[in-house]
Amino acid sequence: MSWELRNVHAIPTEPIGSIPRPVDLIERIAGSDSEDPNEDPELSPFYEDAIRETIERLEATGSPVVTDGEQRKYGGFCTYCVHGLPNTAPDGFIIPFADGHTRRLSRLTRGPFRYRRYADGYLDIAMRYAHVPVKQAVISPSALSLMYPAERIPGYSREQFIEDLLREHETEIRRCLNKGAHKVQVDFTEGRLAVKIDPSGHLLNSFIDLNNLALSRFSPDERRRIGVHTCPGNDLHSTHSADVDYAELLPSLFELKAGNFYIALAGERDRRHVLTIIRKYLKPDRRIFVGVIAPIDARIESPEEVRDRVLEASEYIPIEQLGTTDDCGFSPFFDNTSTSRDTAFAKIQARVRGTALAANVIGARS
Ligand SMILES: [Zn+2]
Repeated sequence: MSWELRNVHAIPTEPIGSIPRPVDLIERIAGSDSEDPNEDPELSPFYEDAIRETIERLEATGSPVVTDGEQRKYGGFCTYCVHGLPNTAPDGFIIPFADGHTRRLSRLTRGPFRYRRYADGYLDIAMRYAHVPVKQAVISPSALSLMYPAERIPGYSREQFIEDLLREHETEIRRCLNKGAHKVQVDFTEGRLAVKIDPSGHLLNSFIDLNNLALSRFSPDERRRIGVHTCPGNDLHSTHSADVDYAELLPSLFELKAGNFYIALAGERDRRHVLTIIRKYLKPDRRIFVGVIAPIDARIESPEEVRDRVLEASEYIPIEQLGTTDDCGFSPFFDNTSTSRDTAFAKIQARVRGTALAANVIGARS
């Protein structure tokens, strides 16, 4: 087995995005007098330290691709771009988790809809510190579409809103691609939730159609750098839609015109059942990053365990279309400290090492 042979079979591995923020940073944010801690200059150096340390520690795991750990996504993965908008109210869509706790989106009160910030601002900072490619996660148009109220906004139609939303989302992705993001990952956790809310599949299909309107604005080359993440939610060790069978989601999900899919798998009850569905609906020229680490589980996986999960997935997914990831970010909402930073980095290191072990096994076979 030559080194070259092994290298031919290198399996890409990427994080999803979030790493728990340092407890000190969360406490400082909680104690900030500022209406929008994103823009509190006193907090700036603490955010900066958190980002620098996150990238250093991610690189120390051997991770070939890093993120900023979403240290600056104040509020969380879903609302960072709209947090602090004057034309919103806090009583928007409720995300119910299995353990009874909820998270809530804001509600749009009047038009026009504009982002307050684009994620490429995070990329600017991360790229100052990173020595390896940086990926950037953004929120999906379908998640933000939930901000438009059912009773409609006088003088600002849903159609106008969707047009503004798609333009803002496209702008955000283009800014990230132009700045050299390794990948732009569209977070689509509400896909599986949509099946739970509406088992008929209508809501899911409306989400797929909306997100495809956005993806259609990009060239095939650009879409190779765009991915979609699906998961059953991950907050305070709880999920929002883990009981929804992937058979109800994946056939529609794979209609999305994205080049990459990041699919939570490690925490599934029956991984082979999911892999069978992936094999059936997988299209050519798509890369499937399967989750081999479960952030929801406090236990740290061993590299050997990860290796075996990758080998299992390789029975169903052609090796040239296979990648690995974590099932979700480690702290999608900024104030969640249910997983420690040390645990997150240890789990990521297991993913990186286990993926390399699997690549070696596959390389030795060929
Ligand atoms: Zn997720």
